[in-house]
Amino acid sequence: MPELGTVRGEFPLLRRRVHGRPLVYLDNAATTQLPEPVLRAVEEQYRLWQANIHRGVYWLSEQSTARVEAVRSAVADFIGARESAEIVFTSGATESVNLVARSVSESVLKAGDTVVATQMEHHSNLVPWQEACRRTGAELRVVPLTPRGELDMEALARFLGEGPKLLAVTAVSNVLGTVNPIGRLTAMAHDAGAAVLIDAAQLMRHSRVDVRTLDCDFLCFSGHKLLAPTGVGVLYGKREWLERLPPAAFGGGMVDEVTVSRASWDAPPFKFEAGTRNIAGIVGLGAALGYLRALGAEYVYAREAELLRRTEAVLRERPFLDVLGAPEERSGAVSFNVRGLPAYDAAKLLDQLGVAVRSGHHCAQPLLRALGQESVVRVSPAFYNTEEELDTLGAALDRVAGLPGLRHG
Ligand code: PMP
Repeated sequence: MPELGTVRGEFPLLRRRVHGRPLVYLDNAATTQLPEPVLRAVEEQYRLWQANIHRGVYWLSEQSTARVEAVRSAVADFIGARESAEIVFTSGATESVNLVARSVSESVLKAGDTVVATQMEHHSNLVPWQEACRRTGAELRVVPLTPRGELDMEALARFLGEGPKLLAVTAVSNVLGTVNPIGRLTAMAHDAGAAVLIDAAQLMRHSRVDVRTLDCDFLCFSGHKLLAPTGVGVLYGKREWLERLPPAAFGGGMVDEVTVSRASWDAPPFKFEAGTRNIAGIVGLGAALGYLRALGAEYVYAREAELLRRTEAVLRERPFLDVLGAPEERSGAVSFNVRGLPAYDAAKLLDQLGVAVRSGHHCAQPLLRALGQESVVRVSPAFYNTEEELDTLGAALDRVAGLPGLRHG
């Protein structure tokens, strides 16, 4: 079992102080910090290996290409893909979803079709589908939430009964932390003849993902929520889908042959990778996967679960807080409001006490509307946080709530 002090020692940012206090970083659902091996890998890529990939025949370009392709294989391995050709590098989960939505709207969707999303989605997995439907004349069905903050399975079954073309659903809510039964949802959607896209942005640090067992058609995630740099993400697509879909962006690197009037496309995954990729970011993602493997994924998943339980306990012990949602299974994040205090003010006051949490609508306005909220405070620990930091959060909340003028019942 790794020693927590040693683990934390690998993350230079965790040693920072803010407003004269040690930083307590609890906004890991927004982005995670980077360990030394990832920082070193990114720097080394620029210092020793910088060359464009898939272009040059010279040694340095070939080496750089091999490094990127090794990460593609590592990602395929990490999520259980059949082959690395099923892994497309993007700039993040948002681009991954947009790629599929654009491509599907050109080749699959037509007027009268339906697409199913949910009211729990991050805007990244909702707005692209609104646009795809607007462009094609298809209709978007949005699965509502139960009062506990889970998907209304009856409504989902009803929408699937209409024979939609695709179900787009998040694995884990970035606001409530609700864990959706994605295996079951995928099976239900497939029975109804729909393809399935899983937004796994909030899932990757909390549990093992195996796309073959899941049998989803697409899976999207961002590197920066998984210890990697910003600007790199992944789209997994089943090979038959990647073969069938047209490219969503055009330019260098994705073509087979080009004349002045037309072009033909390279094979997947390259036909979806127009232009120069974030090479150093991809190398950083590879280092992050290597770091997680060395640390032990099971250790990470167990710590994440333990810290989330503790976070919930810290929040529930405080009667002046309203914790939002009560899903049966929660992972990664818990949101709440301090009664009588706007979320923005609460987060600002916590920041003064060294505690970094997120406030706002968390790019999930329809979800917040379902909860009757405009803005909430979100706490999202990661495996490198400590129990003491959560005690600091609790003490900071007591101070925030004790401020004169604040009414709480
Ligand atoms: N989906 C979910 C569930 C998210 O939490 C996020 C990031 N907050 C995204 C998609 C979008 O990720 P990115 O901004 O890295 O593209």
